Amino acid sequence: MLPAIQWYNSYFTYLLFALPALILGLIAQARVQSAFNKYSRVRNYTGLTGAQVARRVLDISGLRDVQIEQTSGMLSDHYDPREKVLRLSQEIYSTPSIAAAGVAAHEAGHAIQDSERYFPLQIRSMLVPTVQIGSWLGPIIFMVGLVMSSTFGEKIAIFGLILFALTAVFSIITLPVEFDATRRAKMVLESSGFIGLDQMSGINSVLDAAAMTYVAAAAQAVSTVLYYVFLLMRRNDR
Ligand SMILES: [Zn+2]
Repeated sequence: MLPAIQWYNSYFTYLLFALPALILGLIAQARVQSAFNKYSRVRNYTGLTGAQVARRVLDISGLRDVQIEQTSGMLSDHYDPREKVLRLSQEIYSTPSIAAAGVAAHEAGHAIQDSERYFPLQIRSMLVPTVQIGSWLGPIIFMVGLVMSSTFGEKIAIFGLILFALTAVFSIITLPVEFDATRRAKMVLESSGFIGLDQMSGINSVLDAAAMTYVAAAAQAVSTVLYYVFLLMRRNDR
């Protein structure tokens, strides 16, 4: 085959693997943005800011020692289990909107998971250092092994594949962690009266859209692993 056609073919094959997850990712992103745009403008009945909602959720869960800080960056909200700090982005921190209440309660949900030693969160935290290296080093090692023609090359490629596959495992374990934090957030918002019951549908659309982005990320990681497996099998056919 001509190199150009070969390149085109492999690029096309890659798209076949990657496209469904990519499209899912774009849809998820669009849904998050529209839900967030809509519900960050709707004031919640109690008039509590995200920071105040998070503080209340943490307090009724017995987590008075968890601090809440403001952090920069749009939707950079996260819970830091090492420092026991909940960091909320400026808008979530200071706005009394439905979206802010939902995101803040979700992040507080992660703090509750941490205090209860929620198992998937523990595995996820354990995998972080390996994934940080494997996500960029895995593909390099894999490609190096792939272009070597010996069986030694195959072993190297498989090693790279396994290293990178941990990224996919990580993104799959992230799913129960995220779904559970959202479940806790909805439960506590519903039962505490921090949010009007008829405003729960706004909370649902913000948090469910956010959950879908994690599903898309997991699908992307898995489809990349499958593409690598496909490349490895094709190499062995040569
Ligand atoms: Zn989360």
